[in-house]
Amino acid sequence: MKIRDIAAAIEEFAPLWLQADYDNSGLIVGRLDDEVHSALLAVDVTEEVIEEAEREGCDIIITHHPIIFAPIKRLNSANYVERCVERAIRSGIALYACHTNLDSTPNGMSWQVGSMIGLDAMSVLEPRKSDPNAGYGVVGVLPRPENIMALLNRVKSIFNVGAIRYSDLPSEDMMVRRVAVCTGAGRSNIADALAAGADLYITADLRYNDFMMGENRMVLADIGHFESEFCAIRILNDIISKKMCNFAVRKSACSRNPIHYLL
Ligand SMILES: [Zn+2]
Repeated sequence: MKIRDIAAAIEEFAPLWLQADYDNSGLIVGRLDDEVHSALLAVDVTEEVIEEAEREGCDIIITHHPIIFAPIKRLNSANYVERCVERAIRSGIALYACHTNLDSTPNGMSWQVGSMIGLDAMSVLEPRKSDPNAGYGVVGVLPRPENIMALLNRVKSIFNVGAIRYSDLPSEDMMVRRVAVCTGAGRSNIADALAAGADLYITADLRYNDFMMGENRMVLADIGHFESEFCAIRILNDIISKKMCNFAVRKSACSRNPIHYLL
């Protein structure tokens, strides 16, 4: 299989033009005409994940986050980014990222998280002007109203969250019906979630002041960046295994949260 064929399958689902201006999705290390035999899927490229690819004989690593984000001027093994890129090149392993295009494509990351929670009638929270079916975040409804604490506990276990940070509750027995979701850092969509009438906004990377933005009618919950994006592996696995049934794809056993919780 050529890398070109794998890229085409992924980009048919999540076109590169949907990525944000600041992003670096696509093929980062390797050439489109290189032959590959087996892919490893992870959230991030790390030295552990590259070691796993070497051990398992995988010659392309497909991740959600791009290993190169800011421009690199030299490759001197000075930090993990440089070391990962150097090691991938030396080991003949291609690196491919599907990042904000996977976030904003229809049925992308937030849709996946929304359906894992059981949301129905989902629509895009911040639709793109050029394509209203694409954009960041989703808002949907639970099949029946659910107590806020029961729901947060359910979310905690579905996404294996070490600790959920959440804002003041209008009341302990608050019932939640409408839920907005944005995977990864979703602070820029707080106003959209409020405007969409969400009772709860589930996202990650919220700052102190963000927790005061619910106007006493919407609860904000930070479930962690990695936890909200771990589903990228499943989405990428589904795309590749459905479209190229004879190509070997494996979910990384070393893709892990860089953040630990002391409880
Ligand atoms: Zn992310």
